[in-house]
This record gives sequence, structure tokens and C-alpha cells, in this order.
Amino acid sequence: MTAPTDSAPTAPAKPTRLAPIVTLDAKFFWDAADQGQFVGERCAECRQFRFPPRPMCPNCHSVKRETVQLSGRGTVYTWIQPRHPTPFGFKEPPIVATVELEEGYRLVSNLYDIALEEVKPGLPVEVFFAPTAGNHQVPVFRPVKK
Ligand SMILES: [Zn+2]
Repeated sequence: MTAPTDSAPTAPAKPTRLAPIVTLDAKFFWDAADQGQFVGERCAECRQFRFPPRPMCPNCHSVKRETVQLSGRGTVYTWIQPRHPTPFGFKEPPIVATVELEEGYRLVSNLYDIALEEVKPGLPVEVFFAPTAGNHQVPVFRPVKK
């Protein structure tokens, strides 16, 4: 029997971010995110995006829907860094932002690779994926590199 050494490989730390809560209407979104794909739901009749995903189009009442690949680009609309209570699953409180997507609707996510003081309205951002518990991942954003 050999004793472990300092050079023994160590497993990467397990993600502490909670896994997403998957609803039936949003399952396509989370399944795609697990594959590193950023997708949205659009009405198959009038082509208006539905967010959050839902069974019927609020514009034309069609129940036909389609999943489309999104660009993953957008701009920061508004943001906050919650301090109290300490967000569960994070070492440091994340920057929570509303991102206005190129496709014309907004979603709430987190900003990475930027200090809170550097965030500005209209900041161009791009999607990438953060790992969660349970081997899932969620779309989050970082500033577009110039
Ligand atoms: Zn419609």
C-alpha cells in the first residue's frame, strides 16, 4: 500500500450552484443548456418569442411553437448584487442582471468576469455556461471582449 502524495491528481471541486428547477414548458431550454446550447421558444405562426416559455402564444393564441438557436449576445439592462441574505450555493454573491437579448426579450442571469463597479447599462455581453450541482449547467453572461 502506498501513501498518497502531493502530486496525486485531485478531482475538480464540485459545483455548488444549485441545479435549475425544470418545468415541463422549459425542459427544452434546460436540456439544450446541458448540451451548451442557448435556445429560445418562438411562436411557429407569428414568429414572436415567448418568454418565459408557455403553451400558448400571448400574441396570436397559437399553440404551435418552435425551438430556435439564439445568438447568445445581448446588453445589460439592469443589475444588482444581493448581499443579504447570502445567496445559497455561491462563495461570493453573484451579480444578478437582466440581459436584453438581440432577439428582443430579456432574461435574468448572472454576470461574470467583471467587477460590480464596472457594469454599465447597455454593456455588450455574451453567453457561456456555468456548471451546477447534478452535472447540469446554466447560461450566464460575460462582457464581450473587444
Ligand atoms: Zn403567435
